[in-house]
Amino acid sequence: MEPVADTLRRLREAFSAGRTRPAGFRAAQLEGLSRFLQDNRQLLQDALAQDLHKVSSTGQLPPYLLSQAPRLHPASTHRAASAFESEISEISISQGEVNLALRNLRVWMKDEKVPKNLATQLDSAFIRKEPFGLVLIVAPWNYPLYLTLVPLVGALAAGNCVVLKPSEISKHMEKVLAEVLPRYLDKSCFAVVLGGPQETGQLLENKFDYIFFTGSSHVGKIVMAAAAKHLTPVTLELGGKNPCYVDDDCDPQTVANRVAWFRYFNAGQTCVAPDYVLCSPEMQERLLPALQGAIARFFGNDPRGSPDLGRIINEKQFQRLQGLLGCGRVAIGGQSDERERYIAPTVLVDVQETEPVMQEEIFGPILPIVNVRGPDEAIDFINRREKPLALYVFSNSSQVVNRLLARTSSGGFCGNDGFMHLTLTSLPFGGVGTSGMGQYHGKFSFDTFSHHRACLLRSPGLEKICALRYPPYAQRNLRLLLAAMKVRNCSCTLL
Ligand code: NAD
Repeated sequence: MEPVADTLRRLREAFSAGRTRPAGFRAAQLEGLSRFLQDNRQLLQDALAQDLHKVSSTGQLPPYLLSQAPRLHPASTHRAASAFESEISEISISQGEVNLALRNLRVWMKDEKVPKNLATQLDSAFIRKEPFGLVLIVAPWNYPLYLTLVPLVGALAAGNCVVLKPSEISKHMEKVLAEVLPRYLDKSCFAVVLGGPQETGQLLENKFDYIFFTGSSHVGKIVMAAAAKHLTPVTLELGGKNPCYVDDDCDPQTVANRVAWFRYFNAGQTCVAPDYVLCSPEMQERLLPALQGAIARFFGNDPRGSPDLGRIINEKQFQRLQGLLGCGRVAIGGQSDERERYIAPTVLVDVQETEPVMQEEIFGPILPIVNVRGPDEAIDFINRREKPLALYVFSNSSQVVNRLLARTSSGGFCGNDGFMHLTLTSLPFGGVGTSGMGQYHGKFSFDTFSHHRACLLRSPGLEKICALRYPPYAQRNLRLLLAAMKVRNCSCTLL
């Protein structure tokens, strides 16, 4: 294998030669990504099935389910061919980002004309979107395709050379990304580097022009510290605890369906999943049977037999989650099986704010409920904690939804549903505070991976006008210059 230093040198040379800048080259890379997704659908689904135990589109059940066929939820055997979660949260959604970039590339690349003052009326003023150069993308394991490809779309569309570091934990997808993906891209401008914490630490010692990191807050700090040594700009897509407030006026079954789907999707290993519910004791009483009903309908009476429920990625995460099951009181679920790394969809009640389940990001199929007396107490509870990646509010009252929106802060916000906001490429996706910095998706990805260069092209003539600003300074010239550069003050019409 080529030494990392040689790979980086090779990519830098390609960038300096201007290889990645033409729109045609960028479009060819995006077409390559599109073909990668189309040609390898089965391979990708199989890798996801092996890493995160999802059903593949051939209907092939994950290994742990083959021995349990008689216990399967009856509806699941018919749906086994759906590969539902992989399709909507990994493959199709990535394809959508590629399509969007291909359709809009030339428009996104265009110089953006900006308003001018009197002094520059005859000049050309614009923002040019330039590639940064050599970009590093570091990805996590929980959506190992989507969280690798979507930043990659932005980086390639913006004309950068890219080093991709997939997660070593989702090892089947890592192999596909390392061995198959490069066949679809220009290797002089794109490389995959493999490794865990140690190798990534060494990789980060090198100078990059931009680093895009998705992962835990803990590692985010390591990445940012390494980037600071070279003053490299970063996007950090991190995690945290996403609150979900449920108001007393809600229909409990509707809320339960939506919350259960989002909490137990990918076995709860989703950065934007509702991490805990805040509601009154009365709402909790109505919500518990509704959640029980939703879980039974989704996964059957024995969720272990459902092919629609994933498994915990590895032993370390399984042990951590099992520890969290000891917090508060188990109201629903609570069963686990170490051999399969299975944890039942679980709801905990009577949890204390000081318990680990309310201190760390859960990242598994466990949902604690914490009691508050109304929206104001929920707002205080949320604001006492770090700013989350996402915040969810369920209420029939738009006033309540808007009150929580106005008085809290989070990376994203969704009223009356789970993480649907991230399906819109017209909305930026990213955290705030400890849940991250920077944003991407759709055009935001292109802008993230582009330096916005401020450009003013002036005339070489008209020196007489320029002479106004040269010494010896004159009071009359100052008045003229100030008038020419003036930014007018106008009162805000809303106030
Ligand atoms: P992680 O931080 O452990 O690992 C992410 C990447 O960093 C991996 O590629 C890994 O190899 C590398 N890495 C790990 N330790 C390192 C070290 N010491 N030095 C340098 N590199 C290191 O995260 P994870 O366990 O893969 O993913 C789960 C976390 O990611 C959760 O906290 C989750 O909330 C977060 N996440 C955030 C988003 C988002 O969009 N904001 C999306 C998915 C996951």
